[in-house]
Amino acid sequence: MKQISVIVPVYNEELSIETFFNAFLKFTETLVKTEYTASVLFVDDGSKDKTAAILNKLIKENVNCKALVFSRNFGKEAALFAGLEHAVGDLMIPMDVDLQDPFELIFEMIKAHETGADVVLARRANRGTDTVVKRFSAQWFYRLNNKMSTLKLEENVGDFRLMTRQVVNEIVSLQENQLFMKGLMSWVGFETVVVDYTRPSRKEGKTKFNYIKLWNLAVQGITSFSTLPLKVWTYFGSVIAFISFLYGLKIIIEKLFFGINASGYASLMVAILFFGGVQLIGIGVLGEYLGRTYLESKRRPRYIIKHKLIKKVNNV
Ligand code: UDP
Ligand code: MG
Repeated sequence: MKQISVIVPVYNEELSIETFFNAFLKFTETLVKTEYTASVLFVDDGSKDKTAAILNKLIKENVNCKALVFSRNFGKEAALFAGLEHAVGDLMIPMDVDLQDPFELIFEMIKAHETGADVVLARRANRGTDTVVKRFSAQWFYRLNNKMSTLKLEENVGDFRLMTRQVVNEIVSLQENQLFMKGLMSWVGFETVVVDYTRPSRKEGKTKFNYIKLWNLAVQGITSFSTLPLKVWTYFGSVIAFISFLYGLKIIIEKLFFGINASGYASLMVAILFFGGVQLIGIGVLGEYLGRTYLESKRRPRYIIKHKLIKKVNNV
């Protein structure tokens, strides 16, 4: 028998957990005649609502359900990492608790795995359930990232994917604590296959990602895998220095041979403001990288587990 570990980060999801778990139970019933079994590992990412209590109840009644409870909210990336580190299955599948990642697709994923894939990515064929802003920003993120970074990310693929134990072992052996899981999960490589699906909308509750969080995730993604934003300033600066040199020559020649007084308050002002702005952007980009290097250098743990929830057999 092969075991499938479904890994589910949850943050304030009291409305979704039970619906999700019922869908999971239905899924396990369909596995009965196959050579697979499934269990679910929830990672409670510091929820402040009844999430932990609901998990406690579920786990008391089900052996195939476990949970890690964080000491506070560490973010979905850390929760996913923790799940991958602690899950014991032969195949691992991270899923969202809101049923936006359909269980039915797992059969297709398994089929692809059986024909040799170590990683099976679930690609959403539609983004109809996302807002217009989210759709465009996602599209731009992938475009920008894939131009700048040597690591190419498959477009419209989230964290929902199947990975073998070997792949997960490589991912969790990576040392960084500033995490961009989508990047890390594809960085390790291996035989990868894509399956398409239509992404339904969130069943219960609200999205936990606002635009600020999404922006930070996008910056984390780009800085994690590309140093181009740091290096581009050398070339940008060189071009501007060259143009400035020619312009300087022109002014000197005009002054020496034609005796034109240096007028031009407007051009002076524009140049000062423009270069001031450009330099601040450059410093800001430096800051993004330096800040991450600083945090990385502290070697703090990625998350803290307050306790683990697991069904006690015969009360031991
Ligand atoms: N999540 C989490 N920690 C957070 C934010 C979200 O563990 O700080 C979980 C959340 O409970 C859900 C999954 O990550 O299971 C995806 O979140 P959501 O559905 O809100 O994201 P969206 O689908 O809107 O991108
Ligand atoms: Mg969702």
